[in-house]
Amino acid sequence: MSSPRLITILAPAYKEAGNLPRLIEALGSMADAMAEAGEIYEWEFLIVNDGSSDDTVTVLKGLREKDSRVNYLNLSRNFGKEGALLAGMDYAKGDCVVIMDADMQHPVSAIPKMIREWEKGYDDVYGIRLSRGKESWLRRRLSGLYYDILQRTTRVNVLRNVGDFRLLSRRAVDAMRSMRESQRYTKGLYCLIGYSKKGVEFETANRAEGRSSFSLAGLLSLGIDGITGFTIAPLRIASVIGLFVSVVAFVYLVFVLTKTVFFGEEVRGYPTLLCVMLFLGGCQLLALGIIGEYIGRIFNETKGRPVYFVDDYNGDKVTSDM
Ligand code: UDP
Ligand code: MG
Repeated sequence: MSSPRLITILAPAYKEAGNLPRLIEALGSMADAMAEAGEIYEWEFLIVNDGSSDDTVTVLKGLREKDSRVNYLNLSRNFGKEGALLAGMDYAKGDCVVIMDADMQHPVSAIPKMIREWEKGYDDVYGIRLSRGKESWLRRRLSGLYYDILQRTTRVNVLRNVGDFRLLSRRAVDAMRSMRESQRYTKGLYCLIGYSKKGVEFETANRAEGRSSFSLAGLLSLGIDGITGFTIAPLRIASVIGLFVSVVAFVYLVFVLTKTVFFGEEVRGYPTLLCVMLFLGGCQLLALGIIGEYIGRIFNETKGRPVYFVDDYNGDKVTSDM
């Protein structure tokens, strides 16, 4: 018999000291239950500590001492979830990688289902949120609107209600790792890589402890990254509006000139003038802002900086960035 395949469970953790012991325990019993049912795998529970300021590091050290399946990676500071995920993918050893949140919002019970789909040959088994857990009305509406915009303007089909809870095969992980852009929108990248996909439904739980570290502003910024990272539709919309306004202005110009030539003109029209000026000024500023967003991205990407730096892996200092 060939040796059992290795499954990596990857969870980014930022100030999750209260949740990690629970997570590791739940994962451990899930793995044991699968082994009892005759589904034999080797396991790696890889936690990426994204520069937490609480005692996540100590907790992780303790967990690794108790359970050798636990591996942990300490980043040199807080890089954000997207950066932490890339770091985790770089260090994951598994034949497949299950990505999940460390706050117990993603049910461990869905993992065996995902693994079974992977065994059938799917490369990307994503979790479909049946409900979104405790979330404000505003956040839910904004999220719905956002996916509408994203789906209409991009060529990749960004799946709705699909989050970061998913299983990726080795080649899908390698595809993800090959994209090193620094303003990452991982959710979109999953869709970009293609490969055979399959959904598994799960019920989102509420956060076990602590609170979400994504503010509305943080989500907004991630949202803008999502759009500017995947489509140049806003630039095109700006051009179309510009073209439209120019055509209308030209027609009006012909009209005004003809009128003046044949019927003369009694000066007046200050309000019209002011409105037109303000409107055009607004359009120009908007277009400039959109262009600015993209130039900002170009600026950030051309620097080619690494997405993250590692402090230590399982307590061993890491000297270079890989
Ligand atoms: N997270 C992270 N770095 C950050 C913020 C969050 O690694 O800067 C992790 C966090 O520990 C959790 C996951 O990303 O495992 C999701 O975070 P959170 O629960 O705050 O987000 P939400 O569930 O509200 O989307
Ligand atoms: Mg959460």
